Amino acid sequence: MQLKADREEGVQLTPFLEKVGFPLTKKPIEVLQINLGKRCNLACTHCHVEAGPQRTEELSAELCDQLIEIIRRFEQIQTVDLTGGAPEMLYGFKPLVEAARGEGKEVIVRSNLTIYFEPGYEDIPEYCRDQGVRIVASLPCYLEDNVDKMRGHGVYDASIRALQRLNALGYGSNPDLILDLVYNPQLPSGEKFSLPPAQAKLEKDYREFFVGHFGIKFNHLLTITNLPIGRTKLHLQRRHLYESYLHFLEANYNGDTVEPLMCRSQLSIDYLGNVYDCDFNQMEGLRSRSPRGMVTVEMLLTKGSLDVIEEVRTAAYCYGCTAGCGSSCGGALV
Ligand code: SF4
Ligand code: SF4
Repeated sequence: MQLKADREEGVQLTPFLEKVGFPLTKKPIEVLQINLGKRCNLACTHCHVEAGPQRTEELSAELCDQLIEIIRRFEQIQTVDLTGGAPEMLYGFKPLVEAARGEGKEVIVRSNLTIYFEPGYEDIPEYCRDQGVRIVASLPCYLEDNVDKMRGHGVYDASIRALQRLNALGYGSNPDLILDLVYNPQLPSGEKFSLPPAQAKLEKDYREFFVGHFGIKFNHLLTITNLPIGRTKLHLQRRHLYESYLHFLEANYNGDTVEPLMCRSQLSIDYLGNVYDCDFNQMEGLRSRSPRGMVTVEMLLTKGSLDVIEEVRTAAYCYGCTAGCGSSCGGALV
């Protein structure tokens, strides 16, 4: 299956699992990542979800109830990680936050920050503060031009205002109100590819810049590699860079990143209730399998277990998670 997945990309790479050298077994599930849908107020060039304002896909009321049941039933879930689209504007956002916080679980909201200025969502920062939600905010560069090029005109300015507002509420200084920023490299326009710089060093640069220029405080900077899927894949294909980028990622393979790969201890759920090993597999339609067939939220509830998957499903783009210092929704891996 692995050979098939890599060949389907039409690229001659070492199959990912052959490179790893052993099956990528699942560990006990600790993180439930829920992708609430594809609607977003932005339409960024690097978006692997291909989200945007015109997208209509989102969670149903029935699935939201099932997810709340899972959150309440399984103590082993430490973290509920909400993403999208812009999760704040999608059905189920507040009920899921409240159910998870009610059970004492960490809740992460992956926010684009600009949503706070859209009509109807102005209360979100105060809501997140009151619920004690951890905010993970995309800000792919600390320079205005680069951010606006990737995310749209005016996004940098709105993001700065949003961060200042979060700081005023205690985010970044109160130990219970964590504010993390996410960096990912600019998309390449030629054969000169790069991985994210060392996370600790870049965090220091971000901190100096944001404190110095805007008085903004944050907790951690998370560096994430651009995986060649979604709009990033289209960008690379249009410039005939797709194959060479995959080779670049393979050439930078680092075996030390395999043990902590996020897909080994999380479930990623889509707005239809299908289960995947990670958000990237979700976007590529590579569903998780158990010995009893494809995994769904309904199956987890029926079986009374989250640990029904034996092995992670992989593809050529997995080389993006194992290149250099590694990459995950929680930043660098080693
Ligand atoms: S990258 Fe994030 S903010 Fe940008 S379009 Fe995609 S979901 Fe929206
Ligand atoms: S893309 Fe990354 S997180 Fe997803 S299955 Fe592959 S290695 Fe794991």
